[in-house]
Amino acid sequence: MFQQKKIDGSAKSYLDQLFEIKPQFQRFNQKNDIFNRSMWDDKINPKNFYVSYDITNYKPKKSKGFDHWDYALRNASWHLTDVVGEMTFPETGRVEGFTDYYTTQTKGPPTKVDLPSLEETTHRIKKASTMLGAGMVGICELDDRWVYSHNFSRKTQAAQKLDLPATISHAILLILPMDYELSKTIPSALGGATTGLGYASSLNVATALAQFITNLGYEAIASLNDTAQSIPMAIQAGLGEYGRNGLLITPKYGPNVRIAKVFTDLPLLPDQPIEFGVKQFCETCRKCSDACPVKAIAKAEPAATPPNFSSHSFIKKWTVNAEKCFKFWVGMNTDCAICIRVCPYNKDYSKWWNRLGIRLANSPLRKIMRWLDDKLEFGKRQAAKWWWA
Ligand code: SF4
Ligand code: SF4
Repeated sequence: MFQQKKIDGSAKSYLDQLFEIKPQFQRFNQKNDIFNRSMWDDKINPKNFYVSYDITNYKPKKSKGFDHWDYALRNASWHLTDVVGEMTFPETGRVEGFTDYYTTQTKGPPTKVDLPSLEETTHRIKKASTMLGAGMVGICELDDRWVYSHNFSRKTQAAQKLDLPATISHAILLILPMDYELSKTIPSALGGATTGLGYASSLNVATALAQFITNLGYEAIASLNDTAQSIPMAIQAGLGEYGRNGLLITPKYGPNVRIAKVFTDLPLLPDQPIEFGVKQFCETCRKCSDACPVKAIAKAEPAATPPNFSSHSFIKKWTVNAEKCFKFWVGMNTDCAICIRVCPYNKDYSKWWNRLGIRLANSPLRKIMRWLDDKLEFGKRQAAKWWWA
């Protein structure tokens, strides 16, 4: 992999400085995220977006990548996540993995396992995470700022106060790569299969890791998009940097990832944040903001005031306009992610020339790297039939 600088000092204060977090900052109420707003806010109309994930309701489109085969594969990639996530919905109103953490674990033993050193315990957790399927794994101390103040019940339409058990001390952040080849077909229903696959892998690894820790006699809570904001936690856990497209950019898979997490009381050694030139590159690149069809990605400097209340205030960062973005998804009946496809960090890093390109991005030659990226047509959309072939 290419050069990375580990940041000294506390990971928490690193984020304070990186995002210039103001004293007025408050934990985010998940009721206000754009997906939950589409359940209660008349301004956000999901039309046929969600129902298209049931194949009996899909509507084929003339554009390529939106036919019966494409929707069939996309919806199949979501199948496991949907079935497990909504298993108890009729009784409890839980949508696990999205508004609520998973409750799939079976009971642990009456006694806790004897722990080796902190270093060895941490090594074993990381080894197990990788074996279970994580592409990258990092650890941070629990920073309450990223835990949602409330989650949202899609059954009762009410926000509910959210607090993790007081014993939780750490979070294990898991990176699940999405499919690079499929990402080239975005936006399309077919391309949406890479997202579905990412969620299914996340569900598998996070719930298995939580069960492993439970089996050792410790507390563990498996989580995907629910409970806490994954991106700042993943930065604290040393898994990547924050990009203009509002996503985590990892050194191994770029932004083409999903993030899962396991909260635990198991004593672990936290990682340190890393830098590998993303912030400086994003300052000049703007490929995602140029490519976004609805201009939802800022071309300007990071700001502490978000475009609307679906994003955090009092934290200075590039913020995607979630209202504009979701409206585009609704129009297509699938998720978009053009900002992942075109990002120069979205590469197959098993190829040496791609690793070299990213070294260039972290050097004074970054403008040349950006120029080359266009010239060589990286990030160009491919037709669905190219992928099927
Ligand atoms: S997902 Fe698509 S619409 Fe949303 S910000 Fe990215 S490029 Fe724009
Ligand atoms: S496309 Fe360019 S500006 Fe946007 S996140 Fe990727 S590197 Fe940063």
